[in-house]
Amino acid sequence: MKASFVTLGCKVNQYETQALKELFRAEGYEIVSENDPADVCVVNTCSVTNIADRKSRQAVRHLKKLNPDCIVVVTGCYAQTGKEAVRAMEEVDIVAGTNEKSSIPELVREYIEDQEKKFRVLEYEKLGCFDEMGIVEAMEGRTRAYIKIQEGCNRFCSYCIIPYARGNVRSRNEEDILKEAELLINCGYKELVLTGINTALYGSEEDGEPKLHILIDKISRIEGDYRIRLSSLEPTVINAEYIKKLFEFKKLCHHVHLSVQSGSDNVLKSMKRRYDMTEYRNIVKTIKDFDENYGITTDIIVGFPGEEEEDFNDSVRTVEDIDFCKVHVFKYSRRGGTPADKMKDQVAPQVKNARSEALIKASETSAERFINKNLGTSRSVLFEEYDRKKGTITGLADNYIRVYVKMDEKDAENAINSFGNVLLEQRFLDGIKGILL
Ligand code: SF4
Repeated sequence: MKASFVTLGCKVNQYETQALKELFRAEGYEIVSENDPADVCVVNTCSVTNIADRKSRQAVRHLKKLNPDCIVVVTGCYAQTGKEAVRAMEEVDIVAGTNEKSSIPELVREYIEDQEKKFRVLEYEKLGCFDEMGIVEAMEGRTRAYIKIQEGCNRFCSYCIIPYARGNVRSRNEEDILKEAELLINCGYKELVLTGINTALYGSEEDGEPKLHILIDKISRIEGDYRIRLSSLEPTVINAEYIKKLFEFKKLCHHVHLSVQSGSDNVLKSMKRRYDMTEYRNIVKTIKDFDENYGITTDIIVGFPGEEEEDFNDSVRTVEDIDFCKVHVFKYSRRGGTPADKMKDQVAPQVKNARSEALIKASETSAERFINKNLGTSRSVLFEEYDRKKGTITGLADNYIRVYVKMDEKDAENAINSFGNVLLEQRFLDGIKGILL
């Protein structure tokens, strides 16, 4: 039997699809690409915006059109938040909610036996334990591997549907994480990306205190030539004191995705983000005091309900003051089922567009400042790809800068998927060109 998979959304979804592929392979399925004919088609959906919901439905219809006789399985966040709408789709045979991914092969077996539609979706309040999907042995590509360490979020930011899609905080069993990390390192992966719905909440179930530093310490003790990257850290959880705990780990990349969402305390308050800009800037200052070229990426929403021109200027000032490696700018998008969707003072689309353009400009200048500050310094780079035309090998520095090094093809073959210490010399394309030290 053949199975194909379509994944929408975040790194956690990508990880879960990889784990699902391994579960199906263990059942004897051949995994084929999403455009190839298949007997079972699984759509791992996203529900972060209304648009994501729509794209999820479109993916289902597209797959069924390609494979009229296949069994269609819908899982992921939209299967949780829009369960009745998904259930009502005639194309859909099996609906598996957030915590049911590991049971999908079994649901498919049952369906093949009795041809009866399957619907297994728990209310988000009842999403009890961590849905362990088994040890993932391989990822697309050979350089970077994601490891899911945590599920759920209990922050309830007013614009966010994720706590309703993923449920409360559940951490993965430490032993399973360490086993998976060791296996991936032994398979030759050079970068382990620790990911989750709110990674910083790892291990916080009992006392609310994050235990991520303990896990990083244990992973770092595994023998091997690799580095660790965090997919993100939430300032709704960590503070300047906590971030210091991460500085001692030599294998941890000097890069953090620290979503600020707005530079205005008024807007942060109505977003229910649990910190103000003084606290956020304090975390940034602590990081930059440790390594002035530590890479910080972030997200900013423009046009949040009630955002005045002055609030928006606070966001612009934030990217003018802080050298972000990259700023992802999002126009606020109403999400049914969230408190912000019901807020008055929704901002007009043309105002959102104008603010988005202005902030993207300011963010590009911020990123340019950050990159230029790295010129003349050296960083460790993990080489990933060779471009024959340019005659350059490229990879990401630990602080998330894209780096290019001139190299002949023979040397590059040996250098791919290995680390090199590079002197960063000149701006080049979206990054920096340097020489291997
Ligand atoms: S921290 Fe806030 S934005 Fe992030 S997943 Fe949780 S509720 Fe959503």
